[in-house]
This record gives sequence, C-alpha cells and structure tokens, in this order.
Amino acid sequence: MRFAVYVLGDRRGLAVDFGEGFRGLFRDEPGYPGDLDHLVANEVDLSDAARALQSGRPVSIEAVRLLPPLPNPGKIICIGLNYVEHSAEVGIARREYPEVFARFTSSLIGHEAPIAMPQQSTQLDYEGELVAVIGRRGRNISRKEALGHVAGYSIFNDVTVRDYQLRTSQWTMGKNFDGTGAFGPFFVVSDALPPGCRGLHLTTRLNGRIVQHAPIADMVFDVEALVASLSDAFALSAGDVIVTGTPGGIGMSHHPPLWMKPGDVCEVEISNLGVLRNSIVDPTVTGPNT
Ligand code: MG
Repeated sequence: MRFAVYVLGDRRGLAVDFGEGFRGLFRDEPGYPGDLDHLVANEVDLSDAARALQSGRPVSIEAVRLLPPLPNPGKIICIGLNYVEHSAEVGIARREYPEVFARFTSSLIGHEAPIAMPQQSTQLDYEGELVAVIGRRGRNISRKEALGHVAGYSIFNDVTVRDYQLRTSQWTMGKNFDGTGAFGPFFVVSDALPPGCRGLHLTTRLNGRIVQHAPIADMVFDVEALVASLSDAFALSAGDVIVTGTPGGIGMSHHPPLWMKPGDVCEVEISNLGVLRNSIVDPTVTGPNT
C-alpha cells in the first residue's frame, strides 16, 4: 500500500495504490479521509483512509503534480556519514555514533519539482537516501521496539551546496538552501516492505549514469539504531521524518568533481519505493521555484 499526495489545477488530493494503480479523492470531495501528514501525525489507521480513497477515481500520476508525501513534518532529522564507503570517500573514519543534523521544511520539494541552481555556488551535489517516517510517538525507544514506531518509508535527495556545507563544522547552511530537499515520490507503508528496508537497494543516476549504488543493509546505523539513538534525546513524534544518510559516490568524490548544473536530471531509486526525479534549473532563467 502506497500513498501519493498530489495537486491537479488548484485542488489537492490524496491517492492510494494497492498494486493496481492509484485511486484518490480531492480534499473538497465527500469521503476524503484527511491529509496524509494529518493522518500520520494523529496515528490514524491508514487502512481506513485507504479504503475511503479506493472509492475515488483513478489518478494518473503522470498527469498530476506530486507534493512531498509529508509536506510539513514536525522534524526533519538527517543522518550524515551513515555508509562506510561514503565516510571513506570524504576521508572520515567510520562513525561510532550517528552524525545528526536538521533540515527546515522550507527546503522540501516533491518529485519532478525543479531544483534551483544556487547563484552563490557551483558545488551542487546529490545524495540519494532512504527516509523513515515515524508513525507512533515515543521516547527512549528500544531497538527491539523501534520498527513498531515507523509507519513507512520514502526516498530523499539530500541535495547539498557542498562549499557552504564545508565552510563550517555545522552543516545547516549547506543543507538548507531553498528547494534542495527532494522528497517522494510516494509514501510506502512499512508492512509492504522488509523490516528496516533491509534487502532493498538504492541507486542514484545523474543524466542516466549510475553514480551511487548500495544495499540499504550497508547502513552503519540501521533504522532501528537511529530510532533508538534519536529518542534518547527527544521524543519522536508521529509524522517526523528521518533521512538516513547517503552511500558512496557523491559528486565531490569524483575526479574531477561531478557537480550538478542546470539541465541535469537526477534520479534516486530504491527498489519497491519508486524513483524520485528532479531536474536542475537556472532560476535566473526560469524564475525561483519557491
Ligand atoms: Mg545526506
């Protein structure tokens, strides 16, 4: 079961797919179960919402504009250096404790939304990542209980303005340029996937060329470990998202560096979760995307 949050004209809708194509309802139609972020944040049984959406009409994903599945999460918690190969390519030893940073909701964009090339930098880099979405609030969650707090998964491109990131030890600036957090295309419920998404593979392509490819099982801190560690410090609320880190192969580690530029198309694919695709645009030509 997977959900898509979409806009057609000026109407927002929610659609569900059980493997036979999406069906959905607009917000202003009878039977609309509520926005996905509202449903998740209120720990509502998503099966009930899915049943309601099944009564709607078929939705062609190609014909609508997809929003991030949760457009306004309470927390966007990102993990750095969570694959050994990536740590090695940036010359940093395997982490003994998760490297945590935060994104603002203002950086989020959906599938197929353009990523604006910053005017201040040429070092625009891709980072394909798995997203875990919290579905049940908790604090001091044990590793054993951790996956019971995860409602589902999605894909993220943690697009980074690399020179800004590396100017300081805190990464906030380089990770929060407007419109650089691509999130989607869908939200896939945990029950439809292997535990912690182990067994799935992540692939990033830039203009069709494979630049990152790794098993999710290569994560240094798996989803259980991240939920347990983060909840040592603060409550994880339903609707919070954990962006779990990127494998080796980032643009900076290529020789010469493989920075993204206007006209490029970047795709992040995770088996069973879909393909998240975004193009890079020059905002001085196309206008800002936010
Ligand atoms: Mg990252």
